[in-house]
Amino acid sequence: MSATVIYQELGYGITCIDTQLHRRGLACCYLIEHNGAVGFIDTGTNNSVPILLEVLKKKHLAKEQVVYLMPTHVHLDHAGGIGSLIKHFPKATVLIHPRGARHIINPENLERGSVAVYGEEAFSKVFGNLFPIDESRVRKMKDGEVLDFNGRILEFLHAPGHAFHHYCIWDVTSRGIFSGDTLGASYPELNNGRARFIFPPSTPVQFDPELWPQTIDRLMEYQADRIFVTHFGMYKNIEPLMLMLKRSIRDYSETALELGALIRSSDANSESLTSSIQQSIEQASINYLLDQQCGLDAIAIKELIASDMNLNAQGLVHWLSSQN
Ligand SMILES: [Zn+2]
Repeated sequence: MSATVIYQELGYGITCIDTQLHRRGLACCYLIEHNGAVGFIDTGTNNSVPILLEVLKKKHLAKEQVVYLMPTHVHLDHAGGIGSLIKHFPKATVLIHPRGARHIINPENLERGSVAVYGEEAFSKVFGNLFPIDESRVRKMKDGEVLDFNGRILEFLHAPGHAFHHYCIWDVTSRGIFSGDTLGASYPELNNGRARFIFPPSTPVQFDPELWPQTIDRLMEYQADRIFVTHFGMYKNIEPLMLMLKRSIRDYSETALELGALIRSSDANSESLTSSIQQSIEQASINYLLDQQCGLDAIAIKELIASDMNLNAQGLVHWLSSQN
């Protein structure tokens, strides 16, 4: 039986594929095709593998044409399935941030860390086992390194803020940036109001509110026409979105500092700190979206963003503890 696939051609040889994590429209990856060569930017989880293979089939592309797998960073919604995916592509090399390489060559630590974030049961259901990739198939990409992708220029840019092992890819052909989680997350359903909405995934454990805005500024210098975000899809006219993103990074860290001080003085534990931070950033987003008349009520908005806001709060608590 073949997998049900949802994908959209975006032009410039780029296809957005829904990796179907948790629900439709939450996480995607990108297939990029140029003069017969194929690459994937982000690869989803183990459960996404049959989806990616089916999309190749539907587009009449052979597995042998896949030459590059390019996880923007090693978080599992982006790269959890890469060890099983690469077994299908005899000619593929993984291009990765130097700080992410050891985690895909030997994913034990990554698995342990992820179990700590998601819990054992959810981890095995959503992500399954992580498979190691032979070192000979892994190439570490330096900051600013340019790849000639069969005649198409891709530039790899180290992008700390969401994670230290994160890179973004500047694609000259589309004048677009494949930004993983660095240029924020947003969902199409939340962008029908007067102004659009984007938020910083401050996921554990490397949120850095100092470096992140600097990374955004550096990427903005490319004057991209579009960004391709993993959560979810392509966005144009990015300047107002980037302003909002930078503002939210500052708001997040200020909220965490304020609530952290409050809770420390009241002797409460880190669990109640996580939930009060979540409540605060979630409510701020809901208020904003209602204000912009996004077309959804508070309950529907909450349903779309609650799991992100929980991870965000966990990341902020982790960041706070590293500040003390
Ligand atoms: Zn992500």
